Amino acid sequence: MKLKDIGEFGLIEKIKQTTSIPDGVIGIGDDCAILPQDTLMETLVSTDMLVEGSHFLRSDVKPKQLGWKSAAVNISDIAAMGGKPLATFLSIALPPDLESEWIDDFISGYSECCTKYGATLLGGDTTSCEDKICINVTVLGTCPVGSAKLRSTAKVSDLICVTGNLGDSAGGLKAILEHRPRTEDCKRLIERHYHPVPRVVEGLKLSKLEGIHAMMDISDGIASDLRHILKSSNVSAEIDLSKLPISDELKAVWPEDLYNLATSGGEDYELLFTIDPSIISSISIPFTVIGTILPNNDNNTIQWIGSDTVFMGFRHF
Ligand code: ADP
Ligand code: MG
Repeated sequence: MKLKDIGEFGLIEKIKQTTSIPDGVIGIGDDCAILPQDTLMETLVSTDMLVEGSHFLRSDVKPKQLGWKSAAVNISDIAAMGGKPLATFLSIALPPDLESEWIDDFISGYSECCTKYGATLLGGDTTSCEDKICINVTVLGTCPVGSAKLRSTAKVSDLICVTGNLGDSAGGLKAILEHRPRTEDCKRLIERHYHPVPRVVEGLKLSKLEGIHAMMDISDGIASDLRHILKSSNVSAEIDLSKLPISDELKAVWPEDLYNLATSGGEDYELLFTIDPSIISSISIPFTVIGTILPNNDNNTIQWIGSDTVFMGFRHF
């Protein structure tokens, strides 16, 4: 059997079966692992890789943008738990003929993001790779004991909510790949693709509310990411496509492809969370209600109101 037949999540499941996670620790399956620190605080850990050709095109991305993005997509996983970022470790494999200015600019973007969110660079690893740039970041964060928001705690009748707009990053990537003229709208979508904003402040605010049941960040599109919440909480959901928050820029550039980009495009790094309907007025950050959690049907599926298409989200294999 080939890897593409097992799929990313089949492979992760295989790996998961080889480890036995100690009591009091949350391991594979959420945005971060959670380890006990002391009686008051817990440690959050996550890691994410960016590979040239799969995650970025060296010919298009500016090194400073790539540096920012490498830190931001990792810090986003701390935000996804409602945690506070603490530290990062940066491992890089670089072609020997890369200009040293490229590295200077990369590090400048990386540290700008780390400084903004309070995640100090504490270590890493450096090696060469003949033809591809490969970047791996590990991020550490912290949160009060028991306050981390998980994927596995959504409840039937919860409202499903998101921060920000959906699909902008994917719309920007599509504009890059299809060589669209760089209109102002296009430039704003591309900026969203190269300069994701981890929702740390929003995550911390949401973590203080008990009625926020499940939470994660959106890296592969809600069609894929919501399924993680549904599976691990053993529920299903309906999403009303007419309620998806879609920017004017996306409507202007890709009017024919809005639902596909907003549900399946990925890399928005907004927060996806489910709430007890009674706390809706206590939420002090901008957000949009897009659907409802339902009792489990056979396969934790999503019913899409407003289209017959079954959206699938981004797939790595
Ligand atoms: P995210 O999109 O939030 O970064 P992923 O979908 O990449 O999360 O991963 C889902 C879960 O699987 C996470 O808990 C992650 O730590 C775990 N995971 C992914 N790849 C591996 C691997 N190669 N070995 C062990 N755990 C993994
Ligand atoms: Mg995540």
